Amino acid sequence: MVMNPVISKLAGKLVVLASSSPRRLEILRNAGMRFEVVPSCFKETLDKRLFKAPQEYAVETAKQKALEVTRRMPCNHRKMPDIVIGADTIVTVDGMILEKPRDKQDAYRMLSSLSGKEHSVFTGVAIVLCHENENEEVDYQIVDFYEETKVKFADLSEDMLWEYIDSGEPMDKAGGYGIQALGGMLVEYVHGDFLNVVGFPLNHFCKQLDIIYNCPPSSSDGQHGSCHGDAAPCSVSTPPPLTPSATHTAQTACGESGHAEVRHSEETLPLTTSRGQLINEIHQRECEDSEEAREDLQRIIQLIDGFKASKALFTASSLGIFDLLQRKPALDAAQVAHELKTSIKGMQCLLEACVSLNLLKTQNCEAPVYENTDLAKRFLLSDARWSLLGHIAHYNDTVWPLFHHLDSAVKEGNHQHHKAFGKKCGVLFQDTIYSSEEIQLKFMKAMHSLAKVSGRAVATAFDLSAFKTACDLGGCTGAMASEFTKAHPEMCVTVFDLPSVVEMSQHFHPPCAEDRVTFVSGDFFKDDLPKADLYILARILHDWSDEKVHILLGRIADVCTPGCGLLLSEIFLNENRTGPSRGLLQALSMSEGRQRSAGEYGLLLKSHAFITTGIKQTDNLLDAMLCVKV
Ligand code: SAM
Repeated sequence: MVMNPVISKLAGKLVVLASSSPRRLEILRNAGMRFEVVPSCFKETLDKRLFKAPQEYAVETAKQKALEVTRRMPCNHRKMPDIVIGADTIVTVDGMILEKPRDKQDAYRMLSSLSGKEHSVFTGVAIVLCHENENEEVDYQIVDFYEETKVKFADLSEDMLWEYIDSGEPMDKAGGYGIQALGGMLVEYVHGDFLNVVGFPLNHFCKQLDIIYNCPPSSSDGQHGSCHGDAAPCSVSTPPPLTPSATHTAQTACGESGHAEVRHSEETLPLTTSRGQLINEIHQRECEDSEEAREDLQRIIQLIDGFKASKALFTASSLGIFDLLQRKPALDAAQVAHELKTSIKGMQCLLEACVSLNLLKTQNCEAPVYENTDLAKRFLLSDARWSLLGHIAHYNDTVWPLFHHLDSAVKEGNHQHHKAFGKKCGVLFQDTIYSSEEIQLKFMKAMHSLAKVSGRAVATAFDLSAFKTACDLGGCTGAMASEFTKAHPEMCVTVFDLPSVVEMSQHFHPPCAEDRVTFVSGDFFKDDLPKADLYILARILHDWSDEKVHILLGRIADVCTPGCGLLLSEIFLNENRTGPSRGLLQALSMSEGRQRSAGEYGLLLKSHAFITTGIKQTDNLLDAMLCVKV
């Protein structure tokens, strides 16, 4: 293959690159190609589970990007392109597909999963070839292929990782690194096409062009017609033509302002607006009625309806539907209503809603009977290992009434306990959550169920072999402590909590000498803290103001000798406080505390001589940070 003749075959054709990646642009420009850039509106949201191999996902995304532009161009009265090129680059490691990081924490998660390992970079490429046939329909043919390159990262220290993340380079790059710039320093070796890692496999692309223009496949070859020569793997497919009526449909869907806007922009470009800005605006408008707009509509409706789904789940749980259907599977709505003493109509609506939420499944559509889905079996049965019924009951009985008064909470900036429960809110926990035994037990069940689900991920987030004794401050029922002793066979854990909590904890843990968990009662703001090598603070600090946090950390620091550890577990906000929404929504309960980022917690701890040695986003409900006293 000689390169120039291949590229020169494209002379005089309208070639469109359906990508705004500056790296792809540069690679193709450097190869002497002339093309227009029309970024695709296709959102990279294909369900990865539907693909047998990661490269198939990359190829399909590339294809959808190119097709979206192919369909959109004529509907905006633009000339039909001759060729549209789409590409998608992904990084895969340990069976996971890594795309662009959402934020710094996501970049950290990606880069630490690549550290010291070999990974694959796949770029899927789709070339859409368009021809107008004699009926003025547009026939198009898609040639697609992928290229794989293996890359090995050196072992990356925490400092190196964060320095790289803080450089800002990872943010718009698949896998969170750019090999052509600073990211090149992380790389030990590359096996395969280097440009493929940058974002476009130029060599393989030229081979495909060579096949297309020097030995074109006949359309009767059908699928895979051009898979010969040394440029495989690739495939060729010929979708139905883009007929005038299809073009018209697309035109309606895309809106009709595109043409007028483009001409206007070229003829009367306002002096105060840059051409780039204007083109961006036009592009934005072109996308408005697209796939993206439809997805946005779904998303906003989901948010609007979200409370109905939560309440349906809460009601089905509190009525005991899931436990009943576990004991007696395949009941119809009338039987469930009879067993649970509800109206048949109401139960039928609730069961159908639960099916739509994937909590139940039906077997017989004519006379439906209901069964639990695997999701319900895992989390919604009272005897399930990871039962969340305690957590759900707390949300239904306490958090729901508080959120009912969210507008007042926002106006006043206060907890709405008095409005929701008719009582003044005094000292947190002691006067509110623990105001009666019944409410206290409910709260403890909620903490217990969440700690059982999240405890293992927290307990195994770091190597804790240096710590033989731990004290779980505010350890509640001991569920989290129990996960620590299971994960660390040498470790003994003391749970320290308020006297009424320690007393009631027996409901949850029949005393067992082997589980190495003991209880001590006291107030961590006033009483002596038990001695330990490691202090655990799980879901404690977010409830307290900075002032109270300083008091508590000061008291812990006083009993710690250098080398003692402090393991903090919370939902860590992004440093720019844009997520995750679980943490930010929790803050709307408006307790006296605040949700914080790992950086903010790190600073609070540093002022008490605790230095952060590791931060882990567990991908479970709680993140973790390990600090050591210096
Ligand atoms: N750490 C547990 C977990 O992650 O499942 C429970 C977290 S819960 C949000 C807060 C815990 O702190 C409760 O068990 C509560 O009783 C305890 N607590 C609150 N104030 C306390 C105090 N002044 N002294 C000791 N424990 C306290």
